[in-house]
Parts: sequence; structure tokens; C-alpha cells
Amino acid sequence: MVSEQWIAGVDLGGTTTKIAFINLNGEILHKWEIPTDNSNEGQNITKNIANAINQKLADLNEQKTKLIGIGMGAPGPIDYETGVVLNVVNLGWKDNFPLQDSLHSLTSLPVVIENDANCAALGEMWNGAGKGARDIVCVTLGTGVGGGVIANGDIVRGINGAAGEIGHITSIPFGGAPCNCGKSGCLETIASATGIVRLAKDELLKAETQGQLAVIFAANGSVTAKDVFDSARNGDEFAQQIIQEVGFHLGFVLANIANTLNPEMIVLGGGVSRAGDILLDKVNTNFSNFAFSAVKESTTLALATLGNDAGVIGAAWLIKNKLNL
Ligand code: ZN
Repeated sequence: MVSEQWIAGVDLGGTTTKIAFINLNGEILHKWEIPTDNSNEGQNITKNIANAINQKLADLNEQKTKLIGIGMGAPGPIDYETGVVLNVVNLGWKDNFPLQDSLHSLTSLPVVIENDANCAALGEMWNGAGKGARDIVCVTLGTGVGGGVIANGDIVRGINGAAGEIGHITSIPFGGAPCNCGKSGCLETIASATGIVRLAKDELLKAETQGQLAVIFAANGSVTAKDVFDSARNGDEFAQQIIQEVGFHLGFVLANIANTLNPEMIVLGGGVSRAGDILLDKVNTNFSNFAFSAVKESTTLALATLGNDAGVIGAAWLIKNKLNL
């Protein structure tokens, strides 16, 4: 019975690879991690994944026929026709690594590859905050800011696979901080953990700031994004101003995304989103100010519910979708 079969979801990261066996309802049955071995031009990566899957099946006393396919999220730009990763420096691969073919030839299973930010969005759509929705936008607020746009139940990729780069929407047109992408003033320079730390440090270095955050800075010589949120929660006005600024830019950008797409839901995930309501309240206020009225009435903002599992669940969805299950 196909309903009792499993899909392997893989979330390939620079240091660890998450793997899970997932049923056709998008529920994780078994999950584990292996180190990502970047040595030898990344030649061991797919081998290690295939071995880890076989080993786990053996440990569980399951036959290989239990699996119907492998869905995988990978960082970087991907050629979706061929499953080729175009360039990912930190995995050791040379340009144009045939990831899909490599994993297929090692496992003899159907393999589908997708960008990792898109997998997180698909996961939240299938069995997370956006469950049941067919039009959602996911924004991952982590070290950087990633995005995934799902319209009518499928990923929006754009002509060159670069759709959904929400982190690189310009939020400060003039005088913004430089971004890793080469532009300046991108949302990522403000609403990522790195951006929040930068905003805090810039002010802490020049102002005679007082309060909890200034005390932490004086003691450690640095602060984390979590320090900023914790201090704000404890009434530190300076930390609250930083969150105000982050909330303004996020609300502004998300409102304009919503004005374009009118999704059912915009889901916020990633480490920064764990700040919860202290951030979400400010984002909501600014979102309401900048959203077109019919959009404001129908598009809601929500926190992601799958955490680090979104990537493997979304990766598994790729196989369910490909096989029309
Ligand atoms: Zn950028």
C-alpha cells in the first residue's frame, strides 16, 4: 500500500545534513543528522547520504521498497530541469554538480532537488503554519534572510530561479549598509540576526547608551540578537528602539510583497522569529500601515511552526508532488 510507504527528506547544510523518513501525511517518523563531508570536492556528500539511508532502513528492519523517493533541499541556485547545483562554494562541489543524478545512481530511487529556502516554505505549506493554504510566502529570518513564494500550491521560481529572494529586497534605498550580495540597504542587512547585531553595535559604539543591552555590551564587547530581544522584553528602551526599526522595515517589505501577491499567509521562520510576539506585534503594526486595504483584510502574518524540520518535510513534499500522491 502506497499510503504506508515513506519518503526520505534531506536538508543539506554546510556542516550537517538532516535526514528524515516521512509518511504521506507529511509527518516525521524518524529523523537524524550526519556531518556534511566537504572534503574531496564534495564527492562524499551523496555517498554518505545514500549510506545513511540504507543503514537506517537496516536498523529499523525495513526493506528499501519502503521508500518511494528522496526529496532534497540544497543551498544555492539549482537547474530544476536537470537537478544540477550551479555553484555552491562551501560544499566543495565544482560548478554544475549533478546532484540529482548522483543521488539517483547511488540509490536507484526517484530524486527531486529544490533550493533549501523553497523547501522550508513547502514544509510550512504541507504540514506547518500554512497547512491547507495554497498561496503562502515564507520568510526565514536567520543569519541571513531567505524567502520562498508559493502560488497556487507551487513554488514561484522566476525566469532564472531567483524568485523569492526576499532578503535582497531594497529596504533602505540610500545610505543602507552593504549586503553580502553586493548591493546596499537590502532587508537582510536589517532583519537578519547579523543585521540586528549590527544595528545594535553601531549605536552602542557611538552613543552613551544605558540599560541592559549596554551592560552586556560593556561586559562582553559584543551582543547577540537574542540579547537585544531579551533586553527589550525587560524594558530596555534602547533595545526596544532597535526592534522598532527592524519591525518597521520588515512590515514595510512584507506589506509590499502582500500588495503584489495577496497570499493567504506570510509565515515567519528562522532563529530571529523565535523572538515571538515582541517582534511580530511591531511587524503587524507596520504591515497594517503599508498594506492595501483588501490585502490587509485577507493576508495574515504567522510564526512558522515546524522549526528546523521544515526543510526535510518540504523536501519530502517534492516526491509526493512529483509522483502525484
Ligand atoms: Zn542583498
